[in-house]
Amino acid sequence: MGVEHPHGWAVDAIRRVRGDGGPAPTPLRRLRLPGPAFQDVEVHAKDESAHPTGSMKYRLVRAMFCHAIASGTLTADTPVIAATSGAVAVAGARFARLLGLEFTAVVPGRTPARALAGIEREGGRWRVGELPPAAVQEEAGALAGRCGGWFLDHFTDAEPATAGSGEPTIAEEIFEQMGGEPHPVPAWIVVGAGTGTTSATIGRHLRRHGHGSGLAVVDPENSAYFPAWASGCRDYATGMPSRIPGIGRPRTEPGFLPTVMDLVIPVPDAASIAATRWLRTVTGIEAGPATGTNLWGICRLTARMREEGVRGSLVTVIGDTAEPYRATCLDPDWARAQGLDCAPHEAVLQEFARTGRWPGA
Ligand SMILES: *Cc1c(COP(=O)(O)O)cnc(C)c1O
Repeated sequence: MGVEHPHGWAVDAIRRVRGDGGPAPTPLRRLRLPGPAFQDVEVHAKDESAHPTGSMKYRLVRAMFCHAIASGTLTADTPVIAATSGAVAVAGARFARLLGLEFTAVVPGRTPARALAGIEREGGRWRVGELPPAAVQEEAGALAGRCGGWFLDHFTDAEPATAGSGEPTIAEEIFEQMGGEPHPVPAWIVVGAGTGTTSATIGRHLRRHGHGSGLAVVDPENSAYFPAWASGCRDYATGMPSRIPGIGRPRTEPGFLPTVMDLVIPVPDAASIAATRWLRTVTGIEAGPATGTNLWGICRLTARMREEGVRGSLVTVIGDTAEPYRATCLDPDWARAQGLDCAPHEAVLQEFARTGRWPGA
């Protein structure tokens, strides 16, 4: 009989968490977009919807689990608590089940049944906080305190966990995968910001490795990120939730790192939805609405590059699949009920595809 390894559970748990999605990086896909502007500009999309739960949140939650296990915060009998009904809860439930841990998501009132079913499918439980969305955080933290649980607090912890996880980051994967392309260093990398982790990770990577790419963050309506970046006022708050799931926050979150952003582009919500539909029409890719926000930013920057006579490549992210949003953002009736008129934005995209010029620019 050998002596039991003192960190046996942790070592095995990290191996299991890392092994879940397989060792391969998510694919980098060439987007073949129509029109003269895209003849000199190649667009690539890191397909984060290829993760087992269909969302880029899988990567953030994986880093948080690895970090918590390595830090001794998460042990063989720690319940896991999350404060969302979204993609973080789905990934959290999945990793908790993999480790044989209890998982509970504290969700806002009026959470759609479809979201709750996503958590249940991964073996998680949920409870409704009789609370507005903002108070769900506090309730989850209090619940974790009462039961000796670990609060999977993605707004606070995803960014430091990612920075310190030792896992290959999304930025390392992108540059590795761009290696064989004609323009291996993209002119711009375009992403949205929710926790801010992805943009902070990419921005730091550009500096550490001396890459000349610009980092452009696209930001939806009601988000504090564009005004905070433009004004330099870090505690800017709008008090209004974003309608584009995954991106845009009513206040600047701790992971948001405006100092590494070269440009923040505000994108109207109707434009995000129009671009999500356009992506499906021209490429067949069915992505969530935050990918439409990215694509709108890609088109704006492509138009600018064409105007300046610059050739090169652009990289963005497919953040999640269309699946969770078919009855909301991606349902034309929902958009109309929200007062979102997508038609003018669809016309802009069609005009841009036809002429290579951004209308009105
Ligand atoms: C969370 C999320 C983002 C933003 O990523 P962060 O690293 O949290 O800033 C972008 N797109 C989608 C679909 C997301 O779910």
